[in-house]
Amino acid sequence: MQFSVGEFLPVAEGVLVAVAEPAAVNIGLVVGPSGCLVIDTGSSPEQGALIRERAEQAAGVPVLAAVVTHWHHDHFFGLAGFADLPGYAHESVAEWLGHAECRRDATEVGVDPNALVAPSHPFSLARVIDVGGRRVEIVHFGRGHTDGDVVAFVPDAGVIFTGDLLESAGPPAFGADCHLKEWPSAVDGVLGLVAEETVLVPGHGPAMDRLAAFTQRAEISGLYGQVEYLVARGVNREDAYEQGEWPFDEQTVRAVLPLAYAQLADEGKVPRTQLPLV
Ligand SMILES: [Zn+2]
Repeated sequence: MQFSVGEFLPVAEGVLVAVAEPAAVNIGLVVGPSGCLVIDTGSSPEQGALIRERAEQAAGVPVLAAVVTHWHHDHFFGLAGFADLPGYAHESVAEWLGHAECRRDATEVGVDPNALVAPSHPFSLARVIDVGGRRVEIVHFGRGHTDGDVVAFVPDAGVIFTGDLLESAGPPAFGADCHLKEWPSAVDGVLGLVAEETVLVPGHGPAMDRLAAFTQRAEISGLYGQVEYLVARGVNREDAYEQGEWPFDEQTVRAVLPLAYAQLADEGKVPRTQLPLV
């Protein structure tokens, strides 16, 4: 697999973003007076080490800590490149490290699962990080894209790194480990921090503004709401695509329908055949 790290480019005063390939994941860099913070760490320990090196070149001050927005490989596997520094992530990320799914993902991207490291500073709700004299707030607003999404807010710059709770490169990634019903509330937490000029850096794709974030929140909520409506009307999964009105493209919707039906079934909501009255 071809790994590379693009140039760190500014999105606000002392806040930069680089794109790490092959996953096209946004890597954040917050530069304080005497140190800097990296947000998301790339897809492998080697890529993490390279990101750290590039971040220090761009910032001109040492990296003091790293934040992982969630356990997915392109955000988390590079943390091993920061192993001697504080690594912040939601407490669930360390648990994922032991899951077969995480180890399989590692093998798939050519990373030795045993080379991965757990975050040294797990937290459940929120933390403030002193980035060499600059304040960064990291917050978990509840389950959404995964069970442990964390956003990083730079108050003095009006920048929020949202991880994959929001995406601008394409539709949000509705993986098997996402929580469709709760996702919009997690985005509401992010939106609560957003002002007119706030820059939202999603997990993948260019920066987003407030309107784009509101729109995507409505789309995610609309998707779940539509499935809920179809289930209540007795529509089976196989017929759902044709009978629904969807905020995302056909491929995305068809891929997420089995998951949406399964998550509704977990709540006891299953399509019931409506027998004719006579
Ligand atoms: Zn993800």
